[in-house]
Amino acid sequence: MTALPENSVVAVIGSGAMGAGIAQVAAAAGYRVKLYDTRPEAVSKALLDIGKMYGKLAEKGRMTAQQAQDATARLQPAASLSDVADAALVVEAIVENLDVKRSVFAELEAVVSEDCILATNTSSISVTAIAAKLRHPERLVGMHFFNPVPLMALVEVISGLATSADVAATVYDTAQAWGKMPVHAKSTPGFIVNRVARPFYAEGWRLLSEQAGDAATIDAVLREAGGFRMGPFELMDLIGHDVNFSVTQSVFGAYFNDPRFTPSVLQQEMVNAGFLGRKSGRGFYHYG
Ligand code: NAD
Repeated sequence: MTALPENSVVAVIGSGAMGAGIAQVAAAAGYRVKLYDTRPEAVSKALLDIGKMYGKLAEKGRMTAQQAQDATARLQPAASLSDVADAALVVEAIVENLDVKRSVFAELEAVVSEDCILATNTSSISVTAIAAKLRHPERLVGMHFFNPVPLMALVEVISGLATSADVAATVYDTAQAWGKMPVHAKSTPGFIVNRVARPFYAEGWRLLSEQAGDAATIDAVLREAGGFRMGPFELMDLIGHDVNFSVTQSVFGAYFNDPRFTPSVLQQEMVNAGFLGRKSGRGFYHYG
């Protein structure tokens, strides 16, 4: 198996933080990208942000002005799911909810061609479960990017029980063609990274609830002395507390309420308040 050819159509469903990053990377690698979101304003914002990012990369000499212009021209909005009928690959990056993902993939399957690959960027939901209701569950695979997508090389290519080896291999090779460092993984709760990361967040919440230090102190200690690139609270602000909380809930449930993965009531309150982090302008920190 080889990567999907350049110029293939990649549909990105969900144009939030992850969808925009995935679209940016795919278009820069020479693929034609269609961006869809139930909120059209999210698509417009993503297109605007990606254009700005290409502009910055061109200023820094990381791509030429011509490359930036060509990549921008390869991006287009999709007004509805039926507009992505010509996709060779769909990457779904919508809300972290099994039922919603299943219903979007069911709609997509009715629209796309037989050989179109369906990929989910889910952080934690069983790829096997997302695929189970499809007519062709073998074509669905996890393509799990990390935030911010343009900067983070790792992509977990996750096979569910029904995923075909050819599909996983094509997505692996395509991620490489996009300049990423893919790894194969099986569908287990949280996969590799989000499983290992749970205790990092959980201990942060425990430290905070025991008043060992405030969020900024704990972040600074882990960043400056612990060697982590970001502390737990600034990282959760980047990820989005809604997304991070859903992932913890999903891993907790998938391991039959193993107390090691118990979600934090403090984080639940932040979600209730809409203090989602960078994307809402306020989390543990305030953003411009
Ligand atoms: P986000 O909230 O920034 O964006 C999600 C977008 O999906 C929103 O614009 C929303 O309008 C749209 N959407 C919701 N339901 C939809 C539907 N039915 N059809 C089309 N669009 C719909 O979220 P995000 O951070 O980009 O996360 C998206 C997915 O990526 C989630 O599954 C999440 O778990 C996963 N993920 C997130 C991160 C992260 O750090 N944020 C990292 C890896 C994976």
